[in-house]
Amino acid sequence: MIAKVRQHLSQNEALLFERSSPGKTGYQLPDLDVPDVDAAEALGAENVRAEIEGFPEVSEVEAIRHFTRISTWNYAIDHGMYPLGSCTMKYNPRINELVARIEGLAWAHPYQPESLAQGCMEVMVRLEAALAEITGMDAVTLQPCAGAQGELTGILLIRALLEKRGNPRKKILIPDSAHGTNPATATVAGYAIQNVKSSEAGVLDVSALEKIVDQDVAALMVTNPNTLGVFEENIIHVAEILHAKGAMLYMDGANMNALVGIARPGDFGVDVLHLNLHKTFSTPHGGGGPGAGPVAVKKALEPFLPIPRIRQAGKRLAYDYKRKHSIGRVRAFYGNFGVLVRALAYILAHGGPGLRNATVDAVMNAVYIRKGLEAYYDLPYPAPNMHEVVFSDDRQKKHGVSTGDLAKRLIDYGFHPYTVSFPLIVHGALMIEPTETESKLELDQFIEAMISIAKEVEADPQMVKGAPYGTRTSRVDEVTAARKPVLRWKPA
Ligand SMILES: *Cc1c(COP(=O)(O)O)cnc(C)c1O
Repeated sequence: MIAKVRQHLSQNEALLFERSSPGKTGYQLPDLDVPDVDAAEALGAENVRAEIEGFPEVSEVEAIRHFTRISTWNYAIDHGMYPLGSCTMKYNPRINELVARIEGLAWAHPYQPESLAQGCMEVMVRLEAALAEITGMDAVTLQPCAGAQGELTGILLIRALLEKRGNPRKKILIPDSAHGTNPATATVAGYAIQNVKSSEAGVLDVSALEKIVDQDVAALMVTNPNTLGVFEENIIHVAEILHAKGAMLYMDGANMNALVGIARPGDFGVDVLHLNLHKTFSTPHGGGGPGAGPVAVKKALEPFLPIPRIRQAGKRLAYDYKRKHSIGRVRAFYGNFGVLVRALAYILAHGGPGLRNATVDAVMNAVYIRKGLEAYYDLPYPAPNMHEVVFSDDRQKKHGVSTGDLAKRLIDYGFHPYTVSFPLIVHGALMIEPTETESKLELDQFIEAMISIAKEVEADPQMVKGAPYGTRTSRVDEVTAARKPVLRWKPA
């Protein structure tokens, strides 16, 4: 009887703790051929870890199978399209991994003497130069290890410069379409936030901005193209308004996948921006694992960059820690070095024209999806989009089906959901970013799936609200999971 067959391969994987039985090990050591020594006596009791209660004891093959099976439950960019808007889930070319595994790079240690780290230092110098050229900025720090940390670094740089000029000021202006990390950054950096409303077209309202920029404003933080995927066409004018009042323009560069090789923020008035190497420059992300959020600045901000900087000392490269105006360190050592290697590999493998092509493809793919779906889904901001497109669930809502329901149904069609309910200025948002990775075939399948779901909503909304049906678990109780999380397994 099929129903009774234990679907052990992918369906009912037990916790490793539940597989454990006392005394089982994953290794065998030969008998001791030296005198037995008490570890606590030899190393000092404080250096010897006590037994961990309930620690799983399994064989090697059990450990391997357990984690390999679980890994197949994860959806990944190597499985298929991952259209998570704002996140730029692009394919990570294997050449990046090959280069990151070169022994001298993979095994480099941050305490290695400078004379033995010249190659690694050159990787960083070259990457800084490449990013400066791509962004049109004067200097770059690679230290921040995420976009959000890049933001904080950038705003601290602005604060340091304004302080040196005599007044750090009080406020940061943030458009209503911003990513949540922007207001969080401004607050952590000690600034008050003032919200700026977008215009009907979904871009900054220049006349409204003109009225609120005064001597209290330290900076405007703007994402460009913004989170609607729309280019801020007045950006040069915006920069002029800020600069005339002694304020600065911070650009959240998480959406650089729409600009690389086409337009440079440094050329349209930006003073500071961060990049997300794990988005635009293809280093793996999505598992919370290491990223990098380099910060690029104009000349006036360079003296404040985190230490150490790398400088040329004769024929050698040297770390420079003696920088009077530096805001100090923002991260141990030099940042997430392995991520930096992958980003440089990506840039060099593409070359200038290749990077530009990637941008053109990313924009074309998003426009293709928009054209394919605009007859079926409501498009609240019809301004031309770049690398992503944001629909709303207005039409489906009439049948009681929300963006979250549509996203869960998409799982049954074999796609990772798009970004749900962000940006906040679009009610019930469906935020779709295909990136340049996808072929026309894959895009057509995605469009077909979304059209099919729109039709299902008309025919049987209750069915859609029960999705997904093809997964190991269907709907989980998100409220209880958030309010009463179980983070620790307790031995029975
Ligand atoms: C992803 C993202 C961030 C934050 O970057 P992290 O690396 O996740 O900290 C900030 N702003 C925008 C617009 C983003 O898309």
